[in-house]
Amino acid sequence: MSIANDKKKIVILGGSYGGISTAHYLLKHAVPKLPDPKSYQLVLISTSLQTMCRPAAPRALISDAMFPQDKLFVSIPESFAQYAPGSFVFEQGTATALDHENKTVSVLLTKSDDSTSDEVKIAYHALVISTGASTPSPLLGFTRDETALKTSWVAFRIALAEAKHIVVAGGGASGVEVAGELGEHLNGRAGYGGARILPYLRPAIAETAEMYLAKLGVRTLHNTRVTAVVPAAAGTEEVAANATLTLDNGETLRVDLYIPATGAIPNTTFVSETLRCPDGRINTDASTLRVVGAGERVYSIGDASSAARPAIHNIASMVPVLCANIKRDLLLAAGQSAQAAGNDRIFKEDTRETQLVPIGRSKGVGAAMGMKFPSFLVWLIKGRDYWLWTTGNLWSGKQWTKES
Ligand SMILES: Cc1cc2nc3c(=O)[nH]c(=O)nc-3n(C[C@H](O)[C@H](O)[C@H](O)COP(=O)(O)OP(=O)(O)OC[C@H]3O[C@@H](n4cnc5c(N)ncnc54)[C@H](O)[C@@H]3O)c2cc1C
Repeated sequence: MSIANDKKKIVILGGSYGGISTAHYLLKHAVPKLPDPKSYQLVLISTSLQTMCRPAAPRALISDAMFPQDKLFVSIPESFAQYAPGSFVFEQGTATALDHENKTVSVLLTKSDDSTSDEVKIAYHALVISTGASTPSPLLGFTRDETALKTSWVAFRIALAEAKHIVVAGGGASGVEVAGELGEHLNGRAGYGGARILPYLRPAIAETAEMYLAKLGVRTLHNTRVTAVVPAAAGTEEVAANATLTLDNGETLRVDLYIPATGAIPNTTFVSETLRCPDGRINTDASTLRVVGAGERVYSIGDASSAARPAIHNIASMVPVLCANIKRDLLLAAGQSAQAAGNDRIFKEDTRETQLVPIGRSKGVGAAMGMKFPSFLVWLIKGRDYWLWTTGNLWSGKQWTKES
C-alpha cells in the first residue's frame, strides 16, 4: 500500500517512543471510532527502518554480545503488520520541510539500496511531530538510521580494543552511564568530564554516583568544559579518532577516544523557526500537546516537543492525552458536534525527581517519584538490561491494548 491515494492522512514523523506509541494508540482507539474509518490512513515516516531501545546504547555500543540484537532493534513495518491493509503505511525517509500554512510536509524517501530519492510532498489532515533529538556523539542513537549507528559502533569497538585513555564529556545521565560502562569494560581507563554531574538528581545522589564511578577507575572533572577538540570531527563524524582536548581550566588532554555526551539537539530544523522555542524544541501547548501557531491538527510529543522534560516516562503518560485530543479534533473535523467530540484532555507533567542511572553492570543511583532508590533496585529495574524488558510491548503496541 502506498501513500498515493486520496485518504485523509494522519502523518506521524519519527519512529521511536513518541511516534510508534502514538501510531498504535490512534490505530487502536481513535481511527476506528471516526465516521468512515476507511477514509483515513496513518502514515508513519522515519529516517530509520528499525526502532531501538535507546537507553541501552551506553552498554550496547561496547559489543553485540551485551544484548539480544533482535530485541534491541525491531522492525517498524513488522510491528504494524497487524493492522488492516490500507489503514497504515510506513515510509523510510526524512522530513525536510513543513509548510504548515498549506498543510504539507516534504519527505526525502530512502530507497532499498539506502540511497535517497526525490522529495515527495505529503498533504496531511493531521500531523504529529515526534522526531526526537540527536546527541553530538552518533554512538547514542539514530543520528541517521540503524545502518549508520551500527557502522559507528563497529569503528568505535575496533579503536576501543587499543584505547588506554577515554574522555566522556557531559554531565547528564547518558554521560555518566557511558563512563560507567566503559570504566567497567576497561577496568580503570576512562575519564569523565562534566560541568555538573546528574543535575536532575539531588546532590547527595550525584555524589554516590561519583563514588561508584571512581571505583570503576573513572576520574570525574568538575566544572570543566571541553573548549576545543582537534581534529574537530573527533567524537562526532569520526568516532574512533585520537583527539587533543583543550579544557576551560587550561589543561590539555591527549585521548585515544572522545565521546561528547553533552546535551541533545532537537531534530526540528525542517520546521519554521516561528514554531520553535529558542532551544530548538517545537513550541507545544504543555496541556493539550497541540503545536502553538501551526494551524489545526498539528501536535508534538517526545524529545522534539517543549511540553515536558525529555524522558520516556513523560512520553508514556502523554500518549493517551495526545491521542484523545487528536481523536476529538478529528471528530470535529468530520462534522461531529462539540458535545459528541467531548472536551480536551489535559496533560500534567509529573515533575518529581525521577531518574535511574546504572553505573557499570552491578551498581546504580537514582530516584523515582521523589524517592531515592538503593543501588540494587536501580540495577534490578534498569541496570540489568537497560529497560529492554519494557520495549517488547511498546513496539508491538500491546502496551496500548486498552484505552487509558
Ligand atoms: C544514551 C541515552 C540514554 C537514555 N536513557 C533514558 C532512560 O533511561 N530513561 C528515559 O526516560 N529516557 C532516557 N533517554 C531519553 C530517551 O531516549 C528519549 O526521551 C526518547 O528516546 C525520546 O523518544 P522520541 O520518540 O521523542 O525520539 P527519539 O528516540 O529521539 O527518536 C526520534 C526518531 O525520529 C527519527 N527522525 C529524526 N529526524 C527525522 C526527520 N526529519 N524525519 C523523519 N524521522 C526523523 C529518528 O531516526 C528516530 O527514529 C536516554 C537517551 C539517551 C541518548
